[in-house]
Amino acid sequence: MDAIEILKQLKDKGVRFTPQRQAILEFLLETVSHPTADEIYHHVKAKFPGVSLGTIYNTLKMLKEHGHILELSYGDMSSRFDGNPQNHYHIVCSKCGKVADLHRPLLDINQEVREKSGFIIMGHRLEFYGICSECQNDEPLN
Ligand SMILES: [Zn+2]
Ligand SMILES: [Zn+2]
Repeated sequence: MDAIEILKQLKDKGVRFTPQRQAILEFLLETVSHPTADEIYHHVKAKFPGVSLGTIYNTLKMLKEHGHILELSYGDMSSRFDGNPQNHYHIVCSKCGKVADLHRPLLDINQEVREKSGFIIMGHRLEFYGICSECQNDEPLN
């Protein structure tokens, strides 16, 4: 879904959209870097110097609640935000913290987990950890 379609859907639900909020959404749709709220703030601030971190957090919360973005939380580290709301897998560099999409079909395991656990399964999250190619070039692995 592109920004115009998302804006239209949210407007139909009565969500007010400022140019700042639109810039946050557009950045998340165009980037593949899975930015933190702070990175989104610095990006949007370049265009809208008056934007506040509060606006960033409010907008991210709203977009997440309406199912237009994903929040990937990492315990005590900052959350990363993803403009692709469909479940997909990620690979994380343990050295530089880069988060990249891993393009592969979803594992068909929700039914198995439901049978084993008795839970109603809402989804699953899968991440791989490693050293990205740029970090591999930085210094030899020992
Ligand atoms: Zn790396
Ligand atoms: Zn992603």
